[in-house]
This record gives sequence, C-alpha cells and structure tokens, in this order.
Amino acid sequence: VRILLTTVMDAQREKPKGIAITIQDITREVELNEAKAQLISNVSHELRTPLFNIKSIIETIQEYGSELSDEKQQEFLATANHETDRLTRLVNDFLDISRLESGRPYQFGAVHMGQVIEQILRTYQLNAANKSIELSTEVDTPLPAVWGNYDLLIGALTNLVGNALKFTPEGGRVVIRAYVWHPPSDPEQERVRIEVADTGMGIAPEDQPRVFERFFRVENRVHTLEGTGLGLAIVQDIIHKHNTHIHLISEVGVGSTFWFDLAIDETALLPPEQSNVET
Ligand code: ADP
Repeated sequence: VRILLTTVMDAQREKPKGIAITIQDITREVELNEAKAQLISNVSHELRTPLFNIKSIIETIQEYGSELSDEKQQEFLATANHETDRLTRLVNDFLDISRLESGRPYQFGAVHMGQVIEQILRTYQLNAANKSIELSTEVDTPLPAVWGNYDLLIGALTNLVGNALKFTPEGGRVVIRAYVWHPPSDPEQERVRIEVADTGMGIAPEDQPRVFERFFRVENRVHTLEGTGLGLAIVQDIIHKHNTHIHLISEVGVGSTFWFDLAIDETALLPPEQSNVET
C-alpha cells in the first residue's frame, strides 16, 4: 500500500487543522512496474547477442579483410545480414508489446474478418508456395462483422499464420477458418470463431501452457527456426484487448490449432438507418 499524509489547513490557510491520511492499494502499479522492468531486462539481453555477433564480424573484416577469401567475406556478410534481420524482428515485436501495454486507446468497431483473412492470404501466399504448403481459407458467407480493431486482428493472424507456416514441414497444410459459432451455454448468442490449423510438428502437452509466455520457445527448435519467442505473447495481448481468450489444441507430429471467439459488432445488427457502419 501507499500511505499519503497531507496537512489540512484551516479556511484562511494559516493554521494546520489536521492531517488527512490516504491509503492506496498499489499492488497493480507495482506489478506493472515489475513486469516492465523484467521486459526491458529480457529485451536488452536478447538484443545483445545479435549486436555482439554483428560487431565481431565487422571487427574481423576490419582486421583480416584483405586476407579473407571472397567466399569467406560473403559468408560473414550473410551472417551479419541475418543478425540484422533478427534485431529488426526483436525491435518490431518489442514495439508492438510496448504499444499494447501503453494503455493508449485503440479504436474498436466493426471489422469484417473475411477482409482480414484475405489480406493475410495475400501476405503469405508466396511464402506457403515456396515451402509447398497448401494454405487455404474456409470462411462462412455471409459472416457478420465482429467488434474489433482491424490492425490488431491483422497482427494476431499474421503471427498465428506465420507460426503455422514456420512449424509445418514441406507438403503440409494450413487452414484459416472463420465461422459463426453458438456457445452451448447460450445457443441464442452468436460469436465468430477464428481458427488457424496446421499439420505441423505440434507442441507437447507440458509446453502448451507456456507458449504464450514472453520469450518462451520450445527447446531444441530454437537454433533451427527463426523467431523471438514474443509472437504468441503479442497474440494473447491482442486477443485480451478483444475481451476474449486464445486457445490451443495440439499433438506432437500431428499439428496444432489456435482459436478464439470474437463478439459480433452490435451496431451491425441494427437496421441500416441506425447503423453508422459501412457495409
Ligand atoms: P517464435 O518467435 O519462436 O515463433 P512465438 O511466441 O510465436 O515465438 O511461439 C513460441 C513457441 O511456440 C515457438 O518457438 C514454437 O516452439 C511454439 N509454436 C508456436 N506456434 C507453433 C505451431 N503452429 N506449431 C508448433 N509449435 C509452435
């Protein structure tokens, strides 16, 4: 708790009349500060490795450049380039997290998930084809607009589909689904369920609850596949901003499905003259 003591003056502001005691519960504030300090410390640690590698390469080329074969120099430069990409990814993910946590308001309104999914398909079509992965969509038509933020939902699906493609071997399948779903507890209610399913390497039961933690990466894949371990933490933050949860079902060697349910945008249910949503 934080205890504040304030002197209360008399009406003429001449003599103290008494002391006011304010007791504030600052648990949440302390937790947030600790989480921030932890994040900064983790990120700095993560940034150090690629920076160190790039610096070592520059120093080696400076010192021994003339003695190195062209091939060796190209190899060093390719590594430096690769490490720069890693730095960029880390900084981008870090910016996403700090923006999400800044408490700055996001505009929420009607979002057409069909459009979001089309955009994601455009982004990843080439990547999937290069890996001989069949990337497809199954979207209910018509699909009611959901209550959300377009950019955040693009961010969440970019991470989920990016992971699905990354952790699925050649010849596999990735499907993005969007359909109307009725909770069994209240069949009258409509929600839009979004699923990203892959036929990839899967996640062991003991790792499943941990994949949403910041910087968590499943052991022994870490060195072979690119990543920061921040992607799913960002997805979880985004989904929480939509007042809902992200779920995962997965089996090692079979595949993984991530899903979440979004609320229908209420304004979209109003008759057209009362709705300010463009259709
Ligand atoms: P990364 O940058 O490593 O992809 P994420 O936070 O997105 O970080 O994911 C954390 C870890 O969860 C990954 O390193 C990977 O081990 C596992 N993972 C995430 N998505 C999948 C998936 N679709 N299939 C298998 N494993 C996955």
